[in-house]
Amino acid sequence: MDDCIARRVVRAPGFAVVRNTSRVSVSQTSPSFPATTPRQWKAQCKHNGSIHTIEQEKIFMMEKMNDVMIESLKAQLKTSLILTPDSEGYEASLVRWSETGIKPAGVVIQPVDPADISTALLWAQKHGLDVAVKGGGHSTAGTSSSDGGLVIDLSRMKSVRVDPTAKTISVQGGATWKEVDEAGAAYGLATVGGTVNHTGVGGLTLGGGYGWLSGQYGLTIDNLVSAQVVLANGSLVTASSSEHPELFWGLRGAGYNFGVVVDFTYQAYDQAELVFSGILAFPSEKLEEVFEQLNAILAIPDSRSGAMCIFAQAPDGSGPTIIVICFYNGSSDEGGKRFSGLVNIGPVLNTLDMVPYSIVNTLQNRQATYGARKSFKGIFYEPPVDLKFARTVFEDFMAKIQGDPDLMQSAIILEFIDMRKICETPVSETAFASRNFTQNGIIYLRWTDESKDVEHRTWARGIQAKWKSELDTRVTGQQREGEVPQYINYAEPGDSVVSNIYGQNLERLQKIKAVYDPSNLFHKMHPISVPQPAS
Ligand SMILES: Cc1cc2nc3c(=O)[nH]c(=O)nc-3n(C[C@H](O)[C@H](O)[C@H](O)COP(=O)(O)OP(=O)(O)OC[C@H]3O[C@@H](n4cnc5c(N)ncnc54)[C@H](O)[C@@H]3O)c2cc1C
Repeated sequence: MDDCIARRVVRAPGFAVVRNTSRVSVSQTSPSFPATTPRQWKAQCKHNGSIHTIEQEKIFMMEKMNDVMIESLKAQLKTSLILTPDSEGYEASLVRWSETGIKPAGVVIQPVDPADISTALLWAQKHGLDVAVKGGGHSTAGTSSSDGGLVIDLSRMKSVRVDPTAKTISVQGGATWKEVDEAGAAYGLATVGGTVNHTGVGGLTLGGGYGWLSGQYGLTIDNLVSAQVVLANGSLVTASSSEHPELFWGLRGAGYNFGVVVDFTYQAYDQAELVFSGILAFPSEKLEEVFEQLNAILAIPDSRSGAMCIFAQAPDGSGPTIIVICFYNGSSDEGGKRFSGLVNIGPVLNTLDMVPYSIVNTLQNRQATYGARKSFKGIFYEPPVDLKFARTVFEDFMAKIQGDPDLMQSAIILEFIDMRKICETPVSETAFASRNFTQNGIIYLRWTDESKDVEHRTWARGIQAKWKSELDTRVTGQQREGEVPQYINYAEPGDSVVSNIYGQNLERLQKIKAVYDPSNLFHKMHPISVPQPAS
C-alpha cells in the first residue's frame, strides 16, 4: 500500500478505528506519519492518481460510507456548526494553545446546546469513532483533539450567568476564566479560577483547579456547586451533592472521564475590586536570597497571599532572570509588608501595586501566548526549597535554553500557595487525590522545530525526575503511603511520575466509571480503567 493510502487508512475521517476500551488511540499508533491535515492528504491522494488495488477499493468504499455517515450526522444535528476537512473554518477549529495539541479531526462539531452533543455522542459510538472534547484547548498532549474522529468543540458555549443573591457564577463548558473573572467583577464577586485567564474552565475545573484565591477558598472543585453533563448514553443530567452524587464526587478531580460538561455553577465570594499584586524581577545572582524569602513567606502562611517564581530569559534580552509574581488579597499596606523581604533584595523591576483582581490573571498572558510547540511537565516539591537544589535546576535550565535559541521562551514556574484550606477537605471527599502540602510547578518548554519534540521532552522528564528524587529524599522515613504528590492537571498522559494519579480514590472511581462510561468513551486524559469481568 502506498504511503498516501496508508495515511488515509489511519487518519482520514471515519477511519479512526480507535475504540475506547483502553487508552490506546490512533495518535499512539501512527506517530511516524507527517502531521498533515485530512484536507492535505486528500489533495495528495488526488494528485497521486486513481484507485487500483482491492485494498484501495476497500478504502474508497469506506470513504463513501464515511460520507454517508457525515451526511447522517448533518441530518441529525439541529444547531451545531459541522466542520469536515473540506469546510471553511475546519483548520482554524483544530488550533490549540500548543501546536503539539493539533490533530486532524475527522469531523468537528461546534454545538450551542446539549441536545446536539447528545446526538453526536450516540452517532460516534454507533460508528465506533474516537471522541474528544475541547474546552479551552490548552492540553499540550492533544487530549482535546482527535486523530480522525469526532471533536466536540465547546467554543460557542461560553455564556456566563451571575446570581448576585446566591453569589454563584454559572458558566457554559466552553468558557475561559476571562469570561468568569469579568462577569464576576461586574457584581463584585470572584471564584477560584486559573491564573492565566485564557485557559478553559472545563479542563481546569475537572482536574481540580488552583488559583490565586485557593488559599482562602480551596480548589476550584471545592467551590463547584453543580454541573450539567451529557453522558455517553446521550442523557443530560445534573450532578450535585443531591443529584447523581457519585458522579458529582468523580467529576471533582477526575472529571474528564465521565461526559461532556456543558455547564458549571461555582460558589462565588465578595471580592474587592483591587488587590495588591505585580511582578518583581531579579538578576540570577540573587537566586538564593529570593528563595530564602519565598521559603520564609510560606513558612508563615497567610490565606490571602500567594506567589509564583519563574525562571526565564528576560524579555528584553538581558539574560537569565528570576521573576516573582506576588499576590495579596488585601490592602497595599498589608501586601507591602508581606512581600517587603523580597522587595528589600533590590529587584531590577517592581510593578507591585493595587490592581483589579481580573488583571492579575492576565499578568502571565504575554508569556503564555498561543503558537509554537510546547510541553508541560508537572513537578512538585515541599518548601522550604533547598537553595543549592534551586541553583542547580536554574543553571541546568539556562544552559539548556541558551544552547538552543529555539527554546528561549521556555520557563520553569514554581508556585507558593497556602495549602491549608485545600487540605482541610479530606482526600475522600472528592476524587481529587493530591490534597497535601506539596507545591506544584511546571517545566514549560516552548520551541518551533518539530524534529526536536522527543529531545526536548526527554530533557524535561530528566529535570522532572530530579525534582521527584529531591522530594523522595526529603520525605524518606515519613508515613506518606497513598499520598499523591502530583497535580493531575500538570501531569498529562505519559507525564505522570506517580504510578496511580488517583491514589486511594481509584477504586471508587472505577465503580463510577463502570456506571457512567462503561465503554470508556471519554478516555483522553488519565482514563480510569474499568476492570473487565473474567470471561
Ligand atoms: C497557560 C496555562 C496556564 C495554566 N494555569 C493553571 C492554573 O492557574 N491553575 C490550574 O489549576 N491549572 C492551570 N493550568 C493547567 C490547566 O488546568 C489544564 O491545562 C487544563 O486541562 C486546561 O483546560 P482547557 O479546557 O483549557 O483544555 P482542553 O485542552 O480543552 O481540555 C483538557 C482536557 O479536559 C477535557 N475537557 C475540557 N473541557 C471539558 C468539558 N467541558 N467537559 C468534559 N471534558 C472537558 C478535554 O477533553 C481534555 O481532555 C494551566 C495551563 C496552561 C496551558
